[in-house]
Amino acid sequence: MTTQAPPRGGVWGTLVGQRHVVKTLQNAVAGHGMTHAWLFTGPPGSGRSNAAVAFAAALQCEHGTGCGECHACRTTLAGSHPDVSVTRTEKSVHYIDDMRELVRRAGLHPVERKWQVMVIEDADRLTRGEDTRTANSLLKAIEEPTPRTVWLLCAPTVEDVLPTIRSRCRNVSLATPTADDVARFLVERDGVAEPLASFAARASQGHIGRARALANDEQTRIRRREVVEMPAGLTSLAACLNAAANLVDIARDETAALTEQSNARDLADLEALYGDDRKAKRASRSYQASLRELQYSQKQREKRRVMDVIDRGLMDVMSVYRDAIVLGTGSGELVNEEIREAVSGIARRTTPESNIRRIDAIFAARKQMMEFNTPPLLALESMMISLRL
Ligand SMILES: [Zn+2]
Repeated sequence: MTTQAPPRGGVWGTLVGQRHVVKTLQNAVAGHGMTHAWLFTGPPGSGRSNAAVAFAAALQCEHGTGCGECHACRTTLAGSHPDVSVTRTEKSVHYIDDMRELVRRAGLHPVERKWQVMVIEDADRLTRGEDTRTANSLLKAIEEPTPRTVWLLCAPTVEDVLPTIRSRCRNVSLATPTADDVARFLVERDGVAEPLASFAARASQGHIGRARALANDEQTRIRRREVVEMPAGLTSLAACLNAAANLVDIARDETAALTEQSNARDLADLEALYGDDRKAKRASRSYQASLRELQYSQKQREKRRVMDVIDRGLMDVMSVYRDAIVLGTGSGELVNEEIREAVSGIARRTTPESNIRRIDAIFAARKQMMEFNTPPLLALESMMISLRL
């Protein structure tokens, strides 16, 4: 999420619907319950890395509050504070090197005499460490931190993190914010009009980044509409296969723009590292190896992003069956109020039991893609066929 300074409510202003978390962190900043390793958990989009960065800013804040306006707060939020490092394995080309650098920095005294804060955004990926020595040295750094070092790790759930790491950490668990909290945030912070804000809050199901994208970007709204309209059209085998292909296309489209930019940036960084001499570069083995490594990690990143978008699409599709169950069993608020007609059509042709089976089929497809690496198109085709009306 982008940060605009100065945020309302200081650095805490971007934490939506997390009152108890803010309280805990504010107490720690004030010296009550402060510890050297924290684990921020919460569902995707609940803002765990935002919470970690806000906490980092508050720890560095010149007023000791996280005012959001002092130099320390602003540089932390902007990612340029000398004593705060944020590591995102996703953007990292040299993951292992980054981890080593992190361990090295963790041993340094803070420049500004407050804290050396180390944020790791996806601590869950540390479990899939390709290099156990690096994981071990990181672990050791977390176990025996220098007195002014604080580790802020982020992961979806506590179980996603190595037991040896999580046992060192104090857990801060973020909740899925309510639709009202998200809508209020969009109105107050982004100046989104009320009806659009409540639509985006509802449709995002508590994912703040998603809610902001839906509120602020028409293309995102159009793509979501296409996805939630899929279930009502699944009336023939051809339609099912078509829908699967469309969902993959939508995910590729959405990923493409993002990926092009960051790929170009990575390549420029690599080129700059090896200088201007093209001939020397072509001859350099280490350049060639780095280039291959870069291309490989870019492919991996692209795959992951496509998967993330597909996953979100699946959540949207699932929300339609959830709505059909709501209509089939009585009343309640719909996530997809704007396509109520189509949802009632589905509810008339199905039963709540069969829709629960459909939701199971969606989870099964996810599992196949995420855990068994089934190619998305294949998994989605068989899923769409099980969703057929
Ligand atoms: Zn401040």
